[in-house]
Amino acid sequence: MSPESKLAEMVEKVRAYSPHADLAPLEKAYTYSLKAHEHQARASGEHYFVHCAAVAETLIDFKLDLATVCAGLLHDVIEDTPVTRDDLAAEFGNEVALLVEGVTKLDTIQFVSRDEAQAENWRKMLLATAQDIRVIMIKLADRLHNMKTLNFLDQERQKRIAYETLSLYAPLAHRLGMFRLKSELEDLAFTYLHPAEHAALDAQVKAMMVGRDAALERFKAALEKKLVDTRIPYRILARSKSLWSIYQKMERQKKTFPEIQDAMGVRLITDTVANCYALLGLVHTEFKPVAGSFTDYISVPKLNLYQSLHTTVMSPQGDLIEIQLRTEEMHRTSEFGIAAHWRYKLGAAAPDAHLEEKLNWLRQWIEWLQDLKSPREFLESLKTDLELHQVFVFTPAGEVKVLPARATPLDFAFAVHTDIGMACVGAKVNNKMVKFDYELQSGDICEIVVKKGSLPKKDWLNHVRTARARSKIRHYLREKGIVV
Ligand code: MN
Repeated sequence: MSPESKLAEMVEKVRAYSPHADLAPLEKAYTYSLKAHEHQARASGEHYFVHCAAVAETLIDFKLDLATVCAGLLHDVIEDTPVTRDDLAAEFGNEVALLVEGVTKLDTIQFVSRDEAQAENWRKMLLATAQDIRVIMIKLADRLHNMKTLNFLDQERQKRIAYETLSLYAPLAHRLGMFRLKSELEDLAFTYLHPAEHAALDAQVKAMMVGRDAALERFKAALEKKLVDTRIPYRILARSKSLWSIYQKMERQKKTFPEIQDAMGVRLITDTVANCYALLGLVHTEFKPVAGSFTDYISVPKLNLYQSLHTTVMSPQGDLIEIQLRTEEMHRTSEFGIAAHWRYKLGAAAPDAHLEEKLNWLRQWIEWLQDLKSPREFLESLKTDLELHQVFVFTPAGEVKVLPARATPLDFAFAVHTDIGMACVGAKVNNKMVKFDYELQSGDICEIVVKKGSLPKKDWLNHVRTARARSKIRHYLREKGIVV
Protein backbone atom coordinates (compact mmCIF):
# COMPACT_ATOMS: atom_id res chain seq x y z
CA MET A 1 0.00 0.00 0.00
CA SER A 2 1.37 3.42 -0.91
CA PRO A 3 2.09 5.89 1.92
CA GLU A 4 -0.65 8.21 0.63
CA SER A 5 -3.43 5.64 0.62
CA LYS A 6 -2.34 4.31 4.02
CA LEU A 7 -2.59 7.81 5.45
CA ALA A 8 -5.98 8.35 3.82
CA GLU A 9 -7.21 5.12 5.38
CA MET A 10 -6.04 6.18 8.86
CA VAL A 11 -7.59 9.62 8.53
CA GLU A 12 -10.89 8.05 7.54
CA LYS A 13 -10.87 5.67 10.52
CA VAL A 14 -10.06 8.39 13.05
CA ARG A 15 -12.66 10.68 11.48
CA ALA A 16 -15.28 7.97 11.98
CA TYR A 17 -14.99 8.14 15.78
CA SER A 18 -13.92 11.77 16.21
CA PRO A 19 -15.85 13.61 13.50
CA HIS A 20 -15.07 17.10 14.81
CA ALA A 21 -11.33 16.79 15.39
CA ASP A 22 -8.83 18.69 13.28
CA LEU A 23 -6.80 15.87 11.79
CA ALA A 24 -3.95 18.01 10.46
CA PRO A 25 -1.59 16.79 13.27
CA LEU A 26 -2.16 13.19 12.16
CA GLU A 27 -1.00 13.97 8.64
CA LYS A 28 1.94 15.92 10.00
CA ALA A 29 3.02 13.12 12.38
CA TYR A 30 2.71 10.61 9.56
CA THR A 31 4.97 12.55 7.21
CA TYR A 32 7.39 13.44 10.00
CA SER A 33 7.86 9.83 11.13
CA LEU A 34 8.12 8.55 7.55
CA LYS A 35 10.94 11.03 6.93
CA ALA A 36 12.71 10.50 10.30
CA HIS A 37 12.93 6.72 9.76
CA GLU A 38 13.64 7.08 6.04
CA HIS A 39 16.97 5.23 6.05
CA GLN A 40 16.05 2.51 8.52
CA ALA A 41 14.77 -0.98 7.91
CA ARG A 42 13.15 -3.57 10.15
CA ALA A 43 14.67 -7.03 10.60
CA SER A 44 12.07 -8.16 8.05
CA GLY A 45 13.74 -5.95 5.46
CA GLU A 46 10.65 -3.76 5.31
CA HIS A 47 10.81 0.00 5.66
CA TYR A 48 10.97 0.85 9.38
CA PHE A 49 7.96 3.14 9.11
CA VAL A 50 5.71 0.12 8.45
CA HIS A 51 6.14 -0.67 12.16
CA CYS A 52 5.22 2.87 13.27
CA ALA A 53 2.11 2.83 11.11
CA ALA A 54 1.10 -0.60 12.49
CA VAL A 55 1.37 0.68 16.08
CA ALA A 56 -0.75 3.72 15.22
CA GLU A 57 -3.34 1.47 13.56
CA THR A 58 -3.69 -0.65 16.70
CA LEU A 59 -4.27 2.54 18.71
CA ILE A 60 -6.88 3.58 16.15
CA ASP A 61 -8.57 0.17 16.66
CA PHE A 62 -8.79 1.08 20.36
CA LYS A 63 -10.39 4.34 19.18
CA LEU A 64 -7.88 6.38 21.15
CA ASP A 65 -7.51 10.14 20.92
CA LEU A 66 -5.48 11.97 18.29
CA ALA A 67 -2.48 12.74 20.54
CA THR A 68 -2.06 9.02 21.30
CA VAL A 69 -2.32 8.05 17.64
CA CYS A 70 0.27 10.71 16.71
CA ALA A 71 2.54 9.47 19.52
CA GLY A 72 2.09 5.96 18.13
CA LEU A 73 3.36 7.10 14.73
CA LEU A 74 6.29 8.88 16.39
CA HIS A 75 6.97 6.37 19.19
CA ASP A 76 10.45 5.33 17.98
CA VAL A 77 11.83 8.64 16.74
CA ILE A 78 13.59 9.65 19.97
CA GLU A 79 15.03 6.17 20.48
CA ASP A 80 16.09 5.44 16.92
CA THR A 81 16.68 8.73 15.11
CA PRO A 82 18.49 12.03 15.90
CA VAL A 83 15.13 13.68 16.75
CA THR A 84 14.99 14.87 20.38
CA ARG A 85 12.18 15.29 22.88
CA ASP A 86 12.45 19.08 22.43
CA ASP A 87 12.13 18.75 18.66
CA LEU A 88 8.91 16.79 19.15
CA ALA A 89 7.57 19.27 21.70
CA ALA A 90 8.21 22.12 19.28
CA GLU A 91 6.54 20.31 16.38
CA PHE A 92 3.67 18.49 18.11
CA GLY A 93 3.31 19.99 21.57
CA ASN A 94 4.19 18.73 25.02
CA GLU A 95 1.48 16.10 25.28
CA VAL A 96 2.76 14.07 22.32
CA ALA A 97 6.41 14.64 23.35
CA LEU A 98 5.72 13.29 26.86
CA LEU A 99 3.98 10.20 25.51
CA VAL A 100 6.85 9.40 23.15
CA GLU A 101 9.42 10.02 25.87
CA GLY A 102 7.50 7.66 28.14
CA VAL A 103 7.92 4.71 25.75
CA THR A 104 11.54 5.54 24.86
CA LYS A 105 14.06 3.04 26.24
CA LEU A 106 17.08 4.18 28.24
CA ASP A 107 20.47 4.03 26.60
CA THR A 108 21.76 0.48 27.14
CA ILE A 109 25.38 1.58 27.59
CA GLN A 110 24.79 2.67 31.18
CA PHE A 111 23.82 -0.79 32.51
CA VAL A 112 26.01 -3.59 33.77
CA SER A 113 23.57 -6.43 33.14
CA ARG A 114 20.56 -7.27 31.03
CA ASP A 115 18.48 -7.67 34.21
CA GLU A 116 19.36 -4.16 35.24
CA ALA A 117 18.55 -2.70 31.83
CA GLN A 118 15.22 -4.52 31.76
CA ALA A 119 14.31 -3.43 35.29
CA GLU A 120 15.25 0.20 34.72
CA ASN A 121 13.34 0.36 31.46
CA TRP A 122 10.23 -1.06 33.11
CA ARG A 123 10.64 1.30 36.02
CA LYS A 124 10.88 4.30 33.71
CA MET A 125 7.96 3.21 31.57
CA LEU A 126 5.72 2.55 34.59
CA LEU A 127 6.56 5.94 36.09
CA ALA A 128 5.50 7.58 32.84
CA THR A 129 2.35 5.40 32.88
CA ALA A 130 1.49 6.62 36.38
CA GLN A 131 1.53 10.14 34.92
CA ASP A 132 -0.38 9.19 31.79
CA ILE A 133 -2.02 5.80 31.26
CA ARG A 134 -1.77 6.20 27.48
CA VAL A 135 1.96 5.43 27.69
CA ILE A 136 1.28 1.77 28.46
CA MET A 137 -1.31 1.56 25.68
CA ILE A 138 1.31 2.69 23.15
CA LYS A 139 3.85 0.28 24.62
CA LEU A 140 1.38 -2.60 24.35
CA ALA A 141 0.56 -1.72 20.73
CA ASP A 142 4.32 -1.60 20.04
CA ARG A 143 4.82 -5.01 21.65
CA LEU A 144 1.95 -6.48 19.65
CA HIS A 145 3.55 -5.56 16.33
CA ASN A 146 6.98 -6.70 17.52
CA MET A 147 5.45 -10.07 18.41
CA LYS A 148 3.76 -10.28 15.01
CA THR A 149 7.14 -9.79 13.31
CA LEU A 150 9.22 -11.90 15.71
CA ASN A 151 9.90 -14.57 13.06
CA PHE A 152 12.60 -12.34 11.58
CA LEU A 153 14.78 -12.48 14.70
CA ASP A 154 17.14 -15.24 15.81
CA GLN A 155 15.82 -17.98 18.09
CA GLU A 156 17.48 -16.77 21.26
CA ARG A 157 15.89 -13.33 20.96
CA GLN A 158 12.55 -14.82 19.92
CA LYS A 159 12.39 -16.85 23.13
CA ARG A 160 13.56 -14.00 25.34
CA ILE A 161 11.06 -11.52 23.91
CA ALA A 162 8.23 -14.08 23.92
CA TYR A 163 8.94 -14.87 27.56
CA GLU A 164 8.90 -11.21 28.55
CA THR A 165 5.61 -10.81 26.68
CA LEU A 166 4.07 -13.76 28.51
CA SER A 167 5.35 -12.88 31.97
CA LEU A 168 4.90 -9.10 31.92
CA TYR A 169 3.04 -7.56 28.97
CA ALA A 170 0.14 -10.03 28.75
CA PRO A 171 -0.58 -9.99 32.51
CA LEU A 172 -0.44 -6.20 32.44
CA ALA A 173 -2.95 -6.12 29.57
CA HIS A 174 -5.10 -8.50 31.64
CA ARG A 175 -4.96 -6.21 34.67
CA LEU A 176 -6.02 -3.30 32.49
CA GLY A 177 -8.93 -5.38 31.18
CA MET A 178 -7.56 -5.37 27.61
CA PHE A 179 -8.55 -8.97 26.93
CA ARG A 180 -8.40 -8.99 23.17
CA LEU A 181 -4.84 -7.71 23.20
CA LYS A 182 -3.91 -10.02 26.04
CA SER A 183 -5.03 -13.15 24.15
CA GLU A 184 -3.27 -12.03 21.00
CA LEU A 185 -0.01 -11.49 22.89
CA GLU A 186 -0.31 -14.84 24.67
CA ASP A 187 -1.04 -16.84 21.54
CA LEU A 188 1.86 -15.20 19.70
CA ALA A 189 4.23 -15.92 22.61
CA PHE A 190 2.92 -19.49 22.74
CA THR A 191 3.97 -20.16 19.12
CA TYR A 192 7.57 -19.20 19.93
CA LEU A 193 7.91 -20.76 23.38
CA HIS A 194 6.25 -24.13 22.58
CA PRO A 195 6.02 -24.39 18.77
CA ALA A 196 5.16 -28.11 18.60
CA GLU A 197 2.47 -27.94 21.29
CA HIS A 198 1.01 -24.85 19.69
CA ALA A 199 0.73 -26.47 16.26
CA ALA A 200 -0.84 -29.65 17.65
CA LEU A 201 -3.41 -27.78 19.72
CA ASP A 202 -4.23 -25.43 16.88
CA ALA A 203 -5.12 -28.40 14.66
CA GLN A 204 -7.22 -30.06 17.38
CA VAL A 205 -9.17 -26.89 18.13
CA LYS A 206 -9.88 -26.29 14.43
CA ALA A 207 -11.19 -29.84 14.06
CA MET A 208 -13.44 -29.43 17.09
CA MET A 209 -14.86 -26.13 15.83
CA VAL A 210 -16.35 -27.94 12.83
CA GLY A 211 -18.57 -30.01 15.12
CA ARG A 212 -19.43 -27.02 17.23
CA ASP A 213 -20.82 -25.00 14.35
CA ALA A 214 -23.80 -27.35 14.10
CA ALA A 215 -24.45 -27.17 17.85
CA LEU A 216 -24.23 -23.39 17.72
CA GLU A 217 -26.75 -23.25 14.87
CA ARG A 218 -29.19 -25.42 16.85
CA PHE A 219 -28.83 -23.14 19.86
CA LYS A 220 -29.33 -20.01 17.77
CA ALA A 221 -32.48 -21.43 16.16
CA ALA A 222 -34.01 -22.39 19.51
CA LEU A 223 -33.23 -19.00 21.00
CA GLU A 224 -34.57 -17.20 17.95
CA LYS A 225 -37.92 -18.96 18.35
CA LYS A 226 -38.09 -17.96 21.99
CA LEU A 227 -37.28 -14.32 21.29
CA VAL A 228 -39.46 -13.79 18.24
CA ASP A 229 -42.28 -12.15 20.24
CA THR A 230 -40.11 -9.96 22.40
CA ARG A 231 -38.70 -6.60 21.42
CA ILE A 232 -35.30 -7.26 22.94
CA PRO A 233 -32.53 -6.42 20.49
CA TYR A 234 -29.63 -8.83 20.62
CA ARG A 235 -26.77 -10.30 18.69
CA ILE A 236 -25.08 -13.57 19.32
CA LEU A 237 -21.35 -14.25 19.04
CA ALA A 238 -19.54 -17.56 19.30
CA ARG A 239 -16.71 -17.28 21.76
CA SER A 240 -13.34 -18.81 21.00
CA LYS A 241 -10.90 -19.36 23.81
CA SER A 242 -7.26 -18.50 23.25
CA LEU A 243 -5.00 -21.45 22.56
CA TRP A 244 -2.72 -20.41 25.38
CA SER A 245 -5.53 -20.48 27.95
CA ILE A 246 -6.59 -23.95 26.77
CA TYR A 247 -2.97 -25.11 26.96
CA GLN A 248 -2.60 -23.77 30.50
CA LYS A 249 -5.74 -25.56 31.58
CA MET A 250 -4.36 -28.82 30.12
CA GLU A 251 -1.09 -28.31 31.99
CA ARG A 252 -2.80 -27.44 35.26
CA GLN A 253 -5.15 -30.42 35.14
CA LYS A 254 -2.57 -32.73 33.52
CA LYS A 255 -5.07 -33.68 30.82
CA THR A 256 -5.11 -33.97 27.05
CA PHE A 257 -7.25 -31.74 24.87
CA PRO A 258 -10.13 -34.24 24.40
CA GLU A 259 -10.23 -34.72 28.18
CA ILE A 260 -10.72 -31.05 29.01
CA GLN A 261 -13.49 -30.47 26.46
CA ASP A 262 -15.25 -27.52 27.95
CA ALA A 263 -18.60 -26.08 27.18
CA MET A 264 -19.25 -24.16 24.00
CA GLY A 265 -18.99 -20.44 24.65
CA VAL A 266 -21.61 -17.99 23.42
CA ARG A 267 -22.12 -14.27 24.00
CA LEU A 268 -25.45 -12.50 23.93
CA ILE A 269 -25.12 -8.77 23.52
CA THR A 270 -28.04 -6.41 24.01
CA ASP A 271 -28.72 -2.72 24.64
CA THR A 272 -29.49 -2.20 28.34
CA VAL A 273 -28.75 -3.78 31.72
CA ALA A 274 -32.46 -4.50 32.19
CA ASN A 275 -32.45 -6.44 28.92
CA CYS A 276 -29.44 -8.47 30.04
CA TYR A 277 -31.52 -9.79 32.93
CA ALA A 278 -34.61 -10.19 30.71
CA LEU A 279 -32.59 -12.28 28.24
CA LEU A 280 -31.17 -14.33 31.10
CA GLY A 281 -34.72 -15.11 32.26
CA LEU A 282 -35.73 -16.21 28.76
CA VAL A 283 -32.63 -18.36 28.35
CA HIS A 284 -33.26 -20.07 31.68
CA THR A 285 -36.86 -20.86 30.83
CA GLU A 286 -35.83 -22.43 27.52
CA PHE A 287 -32.65 -24.24 28.62
CA LYS A 288 -31.89 -25.93 31.90
CA PRO A 289 -29.24 -23.99 33.82
CA VAL A 290 -26.42 -25.97 35.39
CA ALA A 291 -26.63 -25.60 39.16
CA GLY A 292 -24.12 -23.18 40.63
CA SER A 293 -22.98 -21.84 37.27
CA PHE A 294 -24.61 -18.40 37.49
CA THR A 295 -22.42 -15.40 38.39
CA ASP A 296 -23.49 -11.77 38.30
CA TYR A 297 -20.55 -9.56 37.34
CA ILE A 298 -22.93 -6.75 36.45
CA SER A 299 -23.89 -5.91 40.02
CA VAL A 300 -20.41 -6.91 41.23
CA PRO A 301 -17.87 -5.97 38.52
CA LYS A 302 -14.42 -7.53 38.55
CA LEU A 303 -11.41 -5.46 39.63
CA ASN A 304 -10.39 -4.92 36.02
CA LEU A 305 -13.78 -3.31 35.19
CA TYR A 306 -15.20 -6.44 33.53
CA GLN A 307 -19.01 -6.78 33.64
CA SER A 308 -21.32 -9.56 32.36
CA LEU A 309 -23.78 -12.19 33.52
CA HIS A 310 -22.41 -15.72 33.30
CA THR A 311 -24.48 -18.87 33.14
CA THR A 312 -24.10 -22.41 31.80
CA VAL A 313 -27.08 -24.25 30.32
CA MET A 314 -27.78 -27.65 28.80
CA SER A 315 -29.44 -27.83 25.38
CA PRO A 316 -32.10 -30.51 24.64
CA GLN A 317 -29.40 -32.30 22.61
CA GLY A 318 -27.17 -32.39 25.66
CA ASP A 319 -24.73 -29.68 24.59
CA LEU A 320 -23.28 -27.68 27.46
CA ILE A 321 -23.35 -23.99 26.59
CA GLU A 322 -21.56 -21.28 28.56
CA ILE A 323 -23.33 -17.99 28.06
CA GLN A 324 -22.16 -14.46 28.80
CA LEU A 325 -24.78 -11.71 28.64
CA ARG A 326 -23.76 -8.08 28.42
CA THR A 327 -24.55 -4.69 26.92
CA GLU A 328 -22.64 -3.31 23.92
CA GLU A 329 -20.78 -0.97 26.24
CA MET A 330 -19.75 -3.83 28.54
CA HIS A 331 -18.67 -5.76 25.48
CA ARG A 332 -16.35 -2.96 24.40
CA THR A 333 -14.97 -2.72 27.92
CA SER A 334 -14.36 -6.47 27.99
CA GLU A 335 -12.37 -6.27 24.79
CA PHE A 336 -10.54 -2.99 25.26
CA GLY A 337 -10.67 -2.51 29.06
CA ILE A 338 -9.12 0.67 30.28
CA ALA A 339 -8.69 1.89 26.70
CA ALA A 340 -12.49 1.91 26.29
CA HIS A 341 -12.97 3.75 29.58
CA TRP A 342 -10.33 6.25 28.66
CA ARG A 343 -12.30 7.04 25.54
CA TYR A 344 -15.62 7.50 27.35
CA LYS A 345 -13.87 9.77 29.80
CA LEU A 346 -13.00 12.23 27.05
CA GLY A 347 -16.61 12.84 26.15
CA ALA A 348 -18.13 12.40 29.61
CA ALA A 349 -19.09 15.24 31.92
CA ALA A 350 -18.83 13.21 35.14
CA PRO A 351 -15.68 11.35 36.14
CA ASP A 352 -15.83 7.60 35.60
CA ALA A 353 -15.63 6.06 39.09
CA HIS A 354 -14.38 2.70 37.80
CA LEU A 355 -11.62 4.33 35.80
CA GLU A 356 -10.51 6.57 38.66
CA GLU A 357 -10.38 3.59 41.01
CA LYS A 358 -8.38 1.61 38.49
CA LEU A 359 -5.94 4.45 37.91
CA ASN A 360 -5.47 4.95 41.67
CA TRP A 361 -4.67 1.29 42.08
CA LEU A 362 -2.14 1.49 39.26
CA ARG A 363 -0.43 4.63 40.58
CA GLN A 364 -0.22 3.24 44.10
CA TRP A 365 1.22 -0.05 42.88
CA ILE A 366 3.82 1.73 40.74
CA GLU A 367 4.82 3.80 43.77
CA TRP A 368 5.43 0.66 45.86
CA LEU A 369 7.48 -0.85 43.08
CA GLN A 370 9.73 2.22 42.92
CA ASP A 371 11.00 1.46 46.42
CA LEU A 372 12.58 -1.78 45.26
CA LYS A 373 16.06 -0.80 44.24
CA SER A 374 17.63 -4.09 43.21
CA PRO A 375 16.78 -4.96 39.59
CA ARG A 376 16.14 -8.60 40.43
CA GLU A 377 13.79 -7.75 43.29
CA PHE A 378 12.00 -5.17 41.18
CA LEU A 379 11.39 -7.60 38.29
CA GLU A 380 10.36 -10.41 40.64
CA SER A 381 7.83 -8.20 42.43
CA LEU A 382 6.53 -6.92 39.12
CA LYS A 383 5.91 -10.48 37.93
CA THR A 384 4.44 -11.67 41.24
CA ASP A 385 2.01 -8.79 41.49
CA LEU A 386 0.89 -9.36 37.92
CA GLU A 387 0.38 -13.08 38.37
CA LEU A 388 -2.97 -14.20 37.13
CA HIS A 389 -3.43 -16.68 39.91
CA GLN A 390 -4.80 -14.84 42.85
CA VAL A 391 -6.26 -15.75 46.21
CA PHE A 392 -9.22 -14.10 47.85
CA VAL A 393 -8.71 -13.80 51.59
CA PHE A 394 -11.21 -12.40 54.08
CA THR A 395 -10.79 -10.17 57.11
CA PRO A 396 -12.76 -11.27 60.21
CA ALA A 397 -15.22 -8.50 59.27
CA GLY A 398 -15.83 -10.15 55.88
CA GLU A 399 -13.90 -7.70 53.74
CA VAL A 400 -12.07 -9.40 50.86
CA LYS A 401 -8.42 -8.79 49.92
CA VAL A 402 -7.08 -9.97 46.58
CA LEU A 403 -3.49 -11.23 46.80
CA PRO A 404 -1.13 -13.08 44.45
CA ALA A 405 -0.97 -16.86 44.89
CA ARG A 406 1.41 -17.95 47.70
CA ALA A 407 0.95 -14.65 49.55
CA THR A 408 1.45 -14.89 53.32
CA PRO A 409 -0.23 -13.41 56.44
CA LEU A 410 2.33 -10.56 56.33
CA ASP A 411 1.21 -9.63 52.80
CA PHE A 412 -2.34 -9.73 54.07
CA ALA A 413 -1.52 -7.56 57.11
CA PHE A 414 0.05 -4.87 54.92
CA ALA A 415 -2.84 -5.09 52.47
CA VAL A 416 -5.25 -4.31 55.32
CA HIS A 417 -3.27 -1.35 56.64
CA THR A 418 0.38 -0.32 56.96
CA ASP A 419 0.00 0.08 60.75
CA ILE A 420 -1.39 -3.45 61.05
CA GLY A 421 1.53 -4.79 59.02
CA MET A 422 4.14 -2.90 61.01
CA ALA A 423 2.88 -4.05 64.41
CA CYS A 424 2.07 -7.61 63.37
CA VAL A 425 3.27 -10.30 65.81
CA GLY A 426 1.25 -13.27 64.63
CA ALA A 427 -1.64 -14.44 62.50
CA LYS A 428 -4.64 -16.72 62.80
CA VAL A 429 -6.11 -18.38 59.76
CA ASN A 430 -9.56 -19.86 60.21
CA ASN A 431 -9.07 -19.45 63.95
CA LYS A 432 -5.76 -21.33 64.15
CA MET A 433 -2.37 -19.70 64.69
CA VAL A 434 -0.14 -20.00 61.60
CA LYS A 435 3.50 -19.14 60.88
CA PHE A 436 4.52 -16.17 58.75
CA ASP A 437 5.44 -18.49 55.86
CA TYR A 438 1.91 -19.92 55.67
CA GLU A 439 0.57 -19.66 52.11
CA LEU A 440 -2.92 -18.19 52.13
CA GLN A 441 -5.69 -20.01 50.27
CA SER A 442 -8.83 -18.54 48.70
CA GLY A 443 -11.60 -18.43 51.27
CA ASP A 444 -9.25 -18.23 54.27
CA ILE A 445 -10.31 -15.88 57.02
CA CYS A 446 -7.18 -14.22 58.29
CA GLU A 447 -6.88 -12.37 61.58
CA ILE A 448 -3.72 -10.42 62.33
CA VAL A 449 -2.47 -10.23 65.89
CA VAL A 450 -0.82 -6.89 66.61
CA LYS A 451 1.16 -5.65 69.55
CA LYS A 452 1.61 -1.95 70.17
CA GLY A 453 5.21 -0.86 69.62
CA SER A 454 6.23 -4.06 67.86
CA LEU A 455 8.23 -3.49 64.68
CA PRO A 456 9.21 -5.36 61.49
CA LYS A 457 12.09 -7.85 61.48
CA LYS A 458 14.61 -8.22 58.69
CA ASP A 459 13.67 -11.85 58.00
CA TRP A 460 10.13 -10.74 57.13
CA LEU A 461 11.50 -9.98 53.68
CA ASN A 462 11.76 -13.75 53.16
CA HIS A 463 8.05 -14.16 53.86
CA VAL A 464 6.40 -11.54 51.65
CA ARG A 465 5.33 -11.73 48.00
CA THR A 466 3.68 -8.36 47.33
CA ALA A 467 5.45 -5.14 46.33
CA ARG A 468 3.42 -3.28 48.91
CA ALA A 469 4.58 -5.31 51.93
CA ARG A 470 8.15 -5.52 50.64
CA SER A 471 8.43 -1.79 50.06
CA LYS A 472 6.97 -0.87 53.49
CA ILE A 473 9.30 -3.26 55.34
CA ARG A 474 12.34 -2.12 53.38
CA HIS A 475 11.51 1.48 53.90
CA TYR A 476 11.36 0.97 57.67
CA LEU A 477 14.58 -1.09 57.81
CA ARG A 478 16.45 1.46 55.75
CA GLU A 479 15.30 4.29 58.01
CA LYS A 480 16.58 2.28 60.97
CA GLY A 481 19.93 2.06 59.22
CA ILE A 482 19.61 -1.68 58.75
CA VAL A 483 21.22 -2.46 55.43
CA VAL A 484 18.97 -4.47 53.14
MN1 MN B 1 8.62 0.29 18.34
